[in-house]
Amino acid sequence: MIGVKDKAVLITGASSGIGEATVRELAKAGARLFIGARRGERLKALAGELGSNVAWRELDVTDAADFSAFVDAAEEKLGRIDALVNNAGVMPLSPLAALKRDEWKKMIDVNIHGVLNGIAAVLPRFVAQRSGHIVNVASIGAHMVVPTGAVYCATKYAVWAITEGLRQEHDDIRATIISPGVVETELGNDISDAQTAAALQGWRKKSLTPDAIGRAIRYALEQPEGVDVNEVIVRPTAAG
Ligand code: NDP
Repeated sequence: MIGVKDKAVLITGASSGIGEATVRELAKAGARLFIGARRGERLKALAGELGSNVAWRELDVTDAADFSAFVDAAEEKLGRIDALVNNAGVMPLSPLAALKRDEWKKMIDVNIHGVLNGIAAVLPRFVAQRSGHIVNVASIGAHMVVPTGAVYCATKYAVWAITEGLRQEHDDIRATIISPGVVETELGNDISDAQTAAALQGWRKKSLTPDAIGRAIRYALEQPEGVDVNEVIVRPTAAG
């Protein structure tokens, strides 16, 4: 099957930014979607706007049992699961010397355990049906480290490694890494270090809009069964 029409796709972090843009892109292409995040009112509004092919449920990706229940609910609603997009993520950047241990833990919980919880919730199904596609949103921070980004980049290097390992272990399950450069979203709004928050505004001067990443995810998902797009890296140009 080429394209995403009628494919059953689950998307995390769908309440804003890249996740929301991906929902819009895939809904336009005729996919059947089950979307999650913690802010249910946003999911409800998005699903209400896009129509009956989009269903939603609140989800905290750091809670393994909640992720399993989310996937069970999606399967009940959609009849099957073709793909999971692990997009949810947080980025409270800071210099290591600021010792923001709670924020380090949060990044590790959401960005790494969140992805692993998603993989654990769908992988037995994908193994049984001998097909399935897991798309993990990493970052250019999976390829380079920047000051204040030590822990965030570590989580994204981990997402890269986990996805690559998954690909190597299963030749009938597709695994894709999506690595965006700077995208104008709510990411980083939780930065508590004042200097780093100011620096983020500078980085955002050259940025992508989230629909660019939605199209990259759609590109990976719409390939025929025999094609696994291993990674897509998308950076902005000065024209953006
Ligand atoms: P946003 O902040 O706009 O979106 C992040 C999403 O993650 C929200 O929908 C949020 O929903 C969700 N989320 C956060 N914590 C949890 C949780 N515990 N459980 C479930 N959902 C959660 O940022 P982006 O759209 O930019 O980020 C999407 C992904 O793209 C992230 O993985 C990010 O690291 C990655 N990325 C972003 C880049 C950028 O420049 N923007 C660059 C490279 C990668 P809610 O709060 O409702 O739960």
